Amino acid sequence: MVGEFTINTLLQKGIDILGEGDYFNPLLDAQLLLCHVLNVDKLYIYTHKNDKIDVEYVDKFLNLIEKRKERYPLQYILGKQEFMGLDFYVEEGVLIPRPDTEILIEKVIEIVNEGYFKEKEVINIIDIGTGSGAISLSLVHYIKNAFVYSVDISDIPIKVASINAERLGLTDKIKFLKGDLFFPLKDLGLYNKIDIIVSNPPYIPSREISGLQKEVSEFEPRLALDGGEDGLYFYRKITDDSLDYLSNDGILAYEIGHDQGKEVEKLLSEKDIFKCTEIVKDLAGHDRVVIGYKK
Ligand code: GLN
Repeated sequence: MVGEFTINTLLQKGIDILGEGDYFNPLLDAQLLLCHVLNVDKLYIYTHKNDKIDVEYVDKFLNLIEKRKERYPLQYILGKQEFMGLDFYVEEGVLIPRPDTEILIEKVIEIVNEGYFKEKEVINIIDIGTGSGAISLSLVHYIKNAFVYSVDISDIPIKVASINAERLGLTDKIKFLKGDLFFPLKDLGLYNKIDIIVSNPPYIPSREISGLQKEVSEFEPRLALDGGEDGLYFYRKITDDSLDYLSNDGILAYEIGHDQGKEVEKLLSEKDIFKCTEIVKDLAGHDRVVIGYKK
């Protein structure tokens, strides 16, 4: 049943509701939610401004606007987030891929392109804490001879990352393993065979999580954020275990918090297997990636 609202008046109502909540980008969010509900693209919204909308869609849209007003992440509603030029399906229970993490991917690709592993037929990668699969899948998408072992401790990430592997046509370049850190890898005969160990582990100090923006602190998985008292818990664990798996010229590549560069670099330097380490900054000039090189 067609109601009173047109595309334009409904959009305006959505913007007004979000605007009341001191909201970051009411226009864009209202547009994207309306496109989602009507299953149309943005151009349609602009070219059908005065079309009347079915009440069923009006109700759906206003419900989502209210949800968003409570800071529920837009990406969970839309079920997607772009990362490294690829579309990833996301749902509650996986961390939403961040642009900061693209720094990690770009750095690893750069190392590969410099010929670091040029004599390798297959570049073997382990990704600890795969989440949506954004890191694993963009690496195997852009590095043609790469294969990745992707580990996550929770069911939802394994399910979501498998959906993404399927959608991106990458299922033959990835193996999913469920479990804690390196535990599910231990019987696969991978000791000394891994060229790249990559991870964006939980790294927020526990007591700082409640101070993050509400979208993150209330709705994203705490398990993907909480790095223990000093935020470094997983860097210690992963670094220790990585020593068994890295090949002679392997690298360890971490995303890190903006103020963790020196500390994580120190953790790596303490292991005498890393000949050198490097910190890469993000576009805001903050430390964002640490690499440990075995050769
Ligand atoms: N970068 C994430 C944030 O925005 C944290 C991700 C992590 O802990 N690995 O909060």
